[in-house]
Amino acid sequence: MPAIPAQPIPATGLLADALGRPLRDLRISVTDRCNFRCSYCMPKEVFDRDYVFLPQSSLLSFEEITRLARIFVAHGVQKIRLTGGEPLLRRGLEALVAQLAELRTPDGTALDLTLTTNGSVLAKKAAALKAAGLRRVTVSLDGLDDAVFRRMNDVDFPVADVLAGIEAAHRAGLGPIKVNMVVKRGRTSRRSCRWRATSANISAQASCCASSSTWTSAPATAGAWTKCCRRPRCWRGCRRTGRSSRWIRP
Ligand code: SF4
Repeated sequence: MPAIPAQPIPATGLLADALGRPLRDLRISVTDRCNFRCSYCMPKEVFDRDYVFLPQSSLLSFEEITRLARIFVAHGVQKIRLTGGEPLLRRGLEALVAQLAELRTPDGTALDLTLTTNGSVLAKKAAALKAAGLRRVTVSLDGLDDAVFRRMNDVDFPVADVLAGIEAAHRAGLGPIKVNMVVKRGRTSRRSCRWRATSANISAQASCCASSSTWTSAPATAGAWTKCCRRPRCWRGCRRTGRSSRWIRP
C-alpha cells in the first residue's frame, strides 16, 4: 500500500473531462438512506425493512469529506452539491456545511454551496443550514396534490410539510430555490404537471419517467404557469433544438 505523505502534495492543474472541459461541479452523497420510497428511485420491494444500508463506519466522516473537497477545490471545483439518499438525514449536517463553507477557490472566492433534499425536514433545518453557510437548496417535489404526492413518495408523507420546508428555506434566504419534479404516467395527474413559480427566488423544473424515458426540463419564469406538453420523449426535441417552446404558458 502506498504511504500517505505527512504533508499534502500541492495541487497542480485543473480537473477536466475527456474533451478537456474543466470540471467545476462536485456532488457529494452524504448518506445512502432516505425516508421516502419513490418507486423510480428506492422502490419498497427492494429497499424494504431487510435492506442493508451502509454502516456508519463505512461513511466518510465530515473531516474526510472536507479534506477531499479541499483537494477538488484546489483543482478547479467551484460548486459543491450535497446529496443522498436524503442528505438531511445525516446527523449534524450543519457542521459539514460550516466546514465546506470555509473553503476558498485558489483566487479566494467562496464556493457555491448547495443541497438537494426531499424537503421532509427542511422546515426544521433551513435556518440552521443558512447560518452554517449553505447558499441555496433544490427541493424534489413530485406533485402539489396531496394524494398524488403521498402516492409518489410511497410513505404517505403529506405535501404540506414539504411546502412548509420551501417556505422556511425562502424565509431563511436559501435562494434561488429550485424545485425538481418527476412526472409518472398513471400516477401523476395532468393537473399536478402544472407549476407556479410564485417568487422570483423559486424556479421549477420537471422531468417525466413515463414509458421509462425522460421528457423534458425547462426553467419556469417567476410568476408564470408552465405546463408539460405531454408529448412523449419530447426532451429529445428540446435537447436537439434547445427550445423551451414545448412548454406552454396559458
Ligand atoms: S426522495 Fe429522492 S432520494 Fe429519496 S427515494 Fe425519492 S428520489 Fe430517492
